[in-house]
Amino acid sequence: MNFDPTDEQRRWRNLARDFAQGVIRPRAERLDREQKFPYDIVAEMAQLGLMGLTLPQEYGGSGGDFVAYNLALEEISRADTSVGITMEAHISLGCSPLVAFGTEEQKEQFLRQCAAGERLWAFGLTEEEAGTDAGGTRTTAELRDGHWVISGSKKWITNSGTDITAGVTVIARTGKRDDGRPELSAIIVPQETPGYTRGPAYEKLGWRASDQHPLYFEDCRVPEENLLGERGTGLRQFLQTLDGGRVAVAALSVGLAQACFDEALARAKRRRQFGKAIAEFQAIQFKLSDMAMEIELARNLVLKAAWLKDRGRSFSREASMAKVFASEAAKRAADQAVQIHGGEGFMEGSAVARYWRQVKINEIGEGTSEINRQIIARGLLKENAEEATQKMVAQ
Ligand SMILES: Cc1cc2nc3c(=O)[nH]c(=O)nc-3n(C[C@H](O)[C@H](O)[C@H](O)COP(=O)(O)OP(=O)(O)OC[C@H]3O[C@@H](n4cnc5c(N)ncnc54)[C@H](O)[C@@H]3O)c2cc1C
Repeated sequence: MNFDPTDEQRRWRNLARDFAQGVIRPRAERLDREQKFPYDIVAEMAQLGLMGLTLPQEYGGSGGDFVAYNLALEEISRADTSVGITMEAHISLGCSPLVAFGTEEQKEQFLRQCAAGERLWAFGLTEEEAGTDAGGTRTTAELRDGHWVISGSKKWITNSGTDITAGVTVIARTGKRDDGRPELSAIIVPQETPGYTRGPAYEKLGWRASDQHPLYFEDCRVPEENLLGERGTGLRQFLQTLDGGRVAVAALSVGLAQACFDEALARAKRRRQFGKAIAEFQAIQFKLSDMAMEIELARNLVLKAAWLKDRGRSFSREASMAKVFASEAAKRAADQAVQIHGGEGFMEGSAVARYWRQVKINEIGEGTSEINRQIIARGLLKENAEEATQKMVAQ
């Protein structure tokens, strides 16, 4: 086995690390406090090729592999998860479905303007009655005179309302299947389409400099050709999209956990009590050991899932494992980082206090821990112990 990144993967990681530590990290506290979308940072990341890292070069993307993307995303999120989720939602949720399911015309019209990251694309699945249960989708799209007429609403959609957003792909009911369940399809809606509006941005616990809005569709008409993929394949499309997204949110979690560790290690060496650095107390050393162990495990899970995806192999179970473990490890890391800081870690303005607030969403967005555990268990229950073990170690 070879655990070394390729030269190209290393190049992307180092590029992201230099930019993140040099430009993003010094501004992270202020971004969080002011809750302003960082247009200049996103523009610089687009210039560096980071905002289109995995997207095809023929449409203006960078053509990097999925491992490289996750290495870079970890570094960006280590500096600030608001910027991390902006990059992730644009690439994994917004643009990847256009790449995977779009026609040449759709890619030319919608992907080309976004593949470098100068414009952003969003993905609208969640609604008031459809969170974990996408079958609860109420938004409808009816085919009339060569147009899809969309009615309904979406909530919490990332990158949907920035000045550089070019549009959103929405999941809507387009009919009823033979078994009585809703037929779901994905439809492309450009930002300036009449009948499509957005509500005000949300106040949030974390990801505060990233952009989320409710979306409203009232008699919103787009051409019939804006159907993405085949009619009725919306469910399959978003499940596939979320598999990739889960690996990326796991990478984002590893980045945040690493940031917690960075702060905790430095503080443990600096802070003196009872005449010595608190790093000399075994209780503190064990916390640092546990954090380092869990970060290492989480990173390995992310990279294995990404490696499988790059090879076109099945990676759905590994994506869910990476998402659950990395998000929960990051939460434990944030908690211990505050503990190692003592009262200082409870103060507004302390980096670890910010990380402690920010970390919770990783267990919720792009599939909660509960639903990912169910996905893992559902697969395991179809196998005997031998089959399950083989899948784990010998893919
Ligand atoms: C900041 C932010 C950004 C987001 N960005 C986007 C975006 O860009 N696009 C988008 O489409 N969505 C987005 N979302 C929505 C996000 O994906 C959902 O919040 C998530 O899927 C969970 O849905 P829910 O919040 O409605 O929780 P619910 O579905 O209401 O779940 C509540 C609780 O019940 C549990 N639960 C539900 N069903 C089951 C079950 N069958 N078994 C066991 N437990 C269950 C859940 O695990 C959870 O603990 C975003 C959300 C936030 C907060």
